[in-house]
Amino acid sequence: MSQITPMMRQYLEIKADYPDAVLFFRLGDFYEMFLDDAVKASRILDITLTSRNKNSDGADVPLCGIPYHSAGPYITKLIEAGEKVAICEQVEDPKSAKGIVRREVVKVITPGLVVDGSSLSPKDNNYLLSIHNDDGNRWGLSYLDLSTGEFRLTELDSLDAVVAEIACVGPREILLPSFFRDNGKMKELARATAGLVVTHVEDWVYDHEYCRRLLAGHFAGASPSSLGCDGLVSGLYAVGAVLHYLQETQKGKAAHVTSIKAYTNAEHLLLDEATRRNLELTATLAEGKRKGSLLGLMDRTTTAMGGRKIKQWINYPLVTNRGITDRQDAVEALLQDAGSRAEIAALLNGVYDLERLNGRISLASAGAKDLVAMKDSLARIPAIKEVLVAFSSNLLAGLNEGLNPLPELIELIERGIVENPPFVLREGGIIADGYNAELDELRAISREGKGFIARLEAQEKKRTGISSLKIRYNKVFGYYIEVTRTNLDSIPADYIRKQTLANAERYITPELKEYEDKVLGAEDRIRDLEFSLFQEIREAAAGHGNLIARTADCLATVDVLVSLAELAHENNYCRPKVDDGTNLAIVDGRHPVIEALNQGERFVPNDTLLDNDENQIIVITGPNMAGKSTFMRQVALIVLMAHMGSFVPATEARIGMVDRIFTRVGASDNLARGQSTFMVEMMEAANILRNATPKSLVILDEIGRGTSTFDGVSIAWAVAEYLHDNGEHAAKTLFATHYHELTELSVTRRRIKNFNIAVKEWNEQIIFLRKIVPGGASHSYGIQVARLAGLPLEVIERAKEILVNLEKGEYAEEGIPRIAREKKATVPTSQLSLFQNTEDLLRKRLLSIDVATLTPLEALNLLDELKRMA
Ligand code: ADP
Ligand code: MG
Repeated sequence: MSQITPMMRQYLEIKADYPDAVLFFRLGDFYEMFLDDAVKASRILDITLTSRNKNSDGADVPLCGIPYHSAGPYITKLIEAGEKVAICEQVEDPKSAKGIVRREVVKVITPGLVVDGSSLSPKDNNYLLSIHNDDGNRWGLSYLDLSTGEFRLTELDSLDAVVAEIACVGPREILLPSFFRDNGKMKELARATAGLVVTHVEDWVYDHEYCRRLLAGHFAGASPSSLGCDGLVSGLYAVGAVLHYLQETQKGKAAHVTSIKAYTNAEHLLLDEATRRNLELTATLAEGKRKGSLLGLMDRTTTAMGGRKIKQWINYPLVTNRGITDRQDAVEALLQDAGSRAEIAALLNGVYDLERLNGRISLASAGAKDLVAMKDSLARIPAIKEVLVAFSSNLLAGLNEGLNPLPELIELIERGIVENPPFVLREGGIIADGYNAELDELRAISREGKGFIARLEAQEKKRTGISSLKIRYNKVFGYYIEVTRTNLDSIPADYIRKQTLANAERYITPELKEYEDKVLGAEDRIRDLEFSLFQEIREAAAGHGNLIARTADCLATVDVLVSLAELAHENNYCRPKVDDGTNLAIVDGRHPVIEALNQGERFVPNDTLLDNDENQIIVITGPNMAGKSTFMRQVALIVLMAHMGSFVPATEARIGMVDRIFTRVGASDNLARGQSTFMVEMMEAANILRNATPKSLVILDEIGRGTSTFDGVSIAWAVAEYLHDNGEHAAKTLFATHYHELTELSVTRRRIKNFNIAVKEWNEQIIFLRKIVPGGASHSYGIQVARLAGLPLEVIERAKEILVNLEKGEYAEEGIPRIAREKKATVPTSQLSLFQNTEDLLRKRLLSIDVATLTPLEALNLLDELKRMA
């Protein structure tokens, strides 16, 4: 080590503190990366890897670099590759430094803590999520969007709930305690953290006193109870880890993170990860795209803030009548007033992302353009308020009150910053004339100086008679007079020669230098002064952070409400009646997304009735492609939309409040996560049976499809019975199946009803009518669908023969479907002695016969049965 250069020693010392980040080491106008960082970064950034002999022992040091003023896109690229970037600056003036310039890491940018650059998607939050769990069942979970300042916290009581919440939040980066690695929790969380940047936080951070201090420090002395964190243990640790990480990476206070919102699972309609995915709430199943999802359909918002907010509304549907009704009232009022709707949308169109502007201002990374954007956005607010004031809805009135146009801030920015400032902050041209007297004076000097140069040039041309004489400027010599060789004879005696070029000579004069000092001195001073004035204005804006945050939040909500009204208007939705009862009645419901696709076929509306007394479980049969899945999803989506406060695609709907929606849909592939489809299907089913309540809505689509038919039918049957028979888990259930055998469930279970999706058989073909009607499908129509799909005729014919054979004897002699019999007593207990047992069974059955009362027909049937048993 003694052989390395002092600079390399400094590098290695700093790097040791940031082992998991790519260190951007500032050297003059460049950020340099060395060693492993250089190898990694050159690959990701596609820049040249060189090497320099930095070690005096002769070993080459890999190296690559980027110009500091265009670092942004490179940082973005590294972040998108899941890397962290530590920015190390020179923190003293190289001119006055003795020896090596002092350098420090001033900021670490991580995927979960991005505040600018193109790796932020405008309509998505960028969350850093933190969890903690000790040995008990309490899990603390907290998440922060540093770019907007949103900070939330909850405690959950199971791993299932944590996994669901992670899926709901969709973080970019997750903080986990280091001890999770040793106690196996990493393994349990593997599914939820796949694809996320995982950062391990040292165990000592999870200390009660330390976390309390962090909290009090960040929120200016606020106590845990005033922040809603009272009594939380794991929750406090989760928050503490976020604050600790924030301190480590931001090196300063994130003042726009002004509050933390504690919440509980009971405040929202819950959806587990599979349900979110299956219902395609915010992304499509196949491609993970927003377009084609419920969010893609519902989002008619104008601003980025509104776009993020409506996504949150989908992710956190309400469960209180009051909250839902307030939103509905607002949507209804806006629905009835197309003029105001259009006016607000037009005004919002000129509003930039106030939340993120606010974040950047507070973190001192905002430029002058950001401040102008802030001003232009705030300037829209008075007009928006003027429209809102006409509405009497509670919610709209409250939002109007929360909108603050901040006239003093508008005035400050308007007065201080030019209308179209440059991107760079240190080259001047930012501060408006008339804002600062000293600046105006310096500018006058600079202008006057420039005029002087022009005048001097004209004067010298005249004096020397050299018409090609020029006064020029470069960084090395400052101002100089350039004369071409052919004119050297006419040079006056007072010119001082500075430089000889191939075909010209360069001179200065004392007069020229005197002015130069004045002008250049003024320009230097202007640049410095402008930057410090700009910082003052930015700090003043940061001082309004609280009000801006509140205003931004209200604007986002207005945007969402207008968007919901627009959606309802365009698609003819109705206002659902939401109540605390248990019934679910939908008249002429439609699937919002499929209806909007409008691919040739008109969407056929359908009714739904579910309750806890008569119609708890609806078994829906019908051939493949009949529309079973569509129907069930539409019910789930309508229920969800109603809980958001949205209108719904139906002509009438009454929605008793639902606590959770569960789906187990299709045999969707989960191979990417390394689990077999059937295993996943059963895990999801298990989750439903564990957690469903009588207030839940359960959608079971083709459950049991992932295994053999007999297994599948058996499992499906038992699941349905369980949901029917266990009062605690007796959820309202829609159960689609192409196993028409399941229609027989209704024979033995009172609250199970059969429906089917009507098809018309015509010339051995089927026509889909898309209408749901009472009763079970008489058969599965698989063969007809196969015909539709073009299977050879002889295969179809043979399949029909086999089917007939299979379908014989579906009912047992008691008239109960065979499948429904309780066979516990007669099931062979040991597979090894199977043969023995069959004989036992035959003997038992024979002994049970009362020959005296047997009719001849019964005797024949019995003989048949015995033969089958043998
Ligand atoms: P299943 O689950 O019974 O196999 P799907 O629900 O997948 O059937 O529906 C098959 C196709 O039928 C869907 O792609 C959809 O476009 C169309 N469809 C379903 N329901 C309707 C309806 N009510 N009106 C019009 N088209 C429908
Ligand atoms: Mg289906």
